[in-house]
Amino acid sequence: MNLRYDLHCHSTASDGALTPSELVKRAKAKNVTALALTDHDTLKGQQEAKIAAENNQINYISGIELSTTWERKCFHIVGLNFDLEAVALSSGIEKLQIQRKQRAERISALLEKKGISGAYQFVTEQAGEGMITRSHFADFLFQHQHVKSRQDAFDKYLGAGKSAFVNTIWADLHDAVGWIQAAGGVAVVAHPLRYKLTASWMRRFLAAFKESGGQAIEVVTGRSSVEDIRVSMNYAKKFELSASLGSDFHVPDQWVELGRLAPLPENIQPVWELF
Ligand code: AMP
Ligand code: MN
Ligand code: MN
Ligand code: MN
Repeated sequence: MNLRYDLHCHSTASDGALTPSELVKRAKAKNVTALALTDHDTLKGQQEAKIAAENNQINYISGIELSTTWERKCFHIVGLNFDLEAVALSSGIEKLQIQRKQRAERISALLEKKGISGAYQFVTEQAGEGMITRSHFADFLFQHQHVKSRQDAFDKYLGAGKSAFVNTIWADLHDAVGWIQAAGGVAVVAHPLRYKLTASWMRRFLAAFKESGGQAIEVVTGRSSVEDIRVSMNYAKKFELSASLGSDFHVPDQWVELGRLAPLPENIQPVWELF
């Protein structure tokens, strides 16, 4: 039987709105039969998602979305199908977790300077034991009517170069890919077209990724147009990378739905053949 995969989504362990169990239930309702939960820089939701998936007859694939830096630019690398007990990955992400907390403090201080107070308390309460992300700050700014929309929060305060942007040197690309590999997993370039790279930067980045041991690239995401899929496919082929697909679902009833994905093109190796 053909499985219906969604290999990129978020829960309350980072900036998703659903708990891992709620997410799995929604996956079931959306006819997803193979799921990876890929929260930002944490493995916190993995056990819960795995157990819920078993109870719902869904194939569970371990997942994470790592924040990495290459040539001073931020790239998200999804890790899939690794050993959840592997020390290489769980110790690798410890520093990222500290960095996320420190960045949240600095973003809050910058907002304070702009006369906006209460951000730190809000985001820490919202995130609970999960990772604090800029999405939490966007929610704060929106809910407290400092901006007209969440996107506006990025455009005015949180986006690169804006007044509350804190430039962070995340995990080295090479190291992050190495942690995933050492844990027996597959490293995947997340949403390759979102970095707005020129073709020559993209080629240099993919060469570095491949050189580090990276094996796949997201060819289909929840936001991919037909043209996006074509462009991503070309990169996959040129660099002999397998193709992944994932919605990057965060919140119900917003733009991107769990499992709502165009099929992968046929003339490329799907990432699950590496599992
Ligand atoms: P970060 O904490 O920097 O890893 O950002 C976490 C989340 O912020 C990502 O998962 C995105 O969903 C969201 N995000 C980042 N940049 C933007 C943007 N320019 N506009 C809207 N959302 C964004
Ligand atoms: Mn996110
Ligand atoms: Mn991402
Ligand atoms: Mn994501």
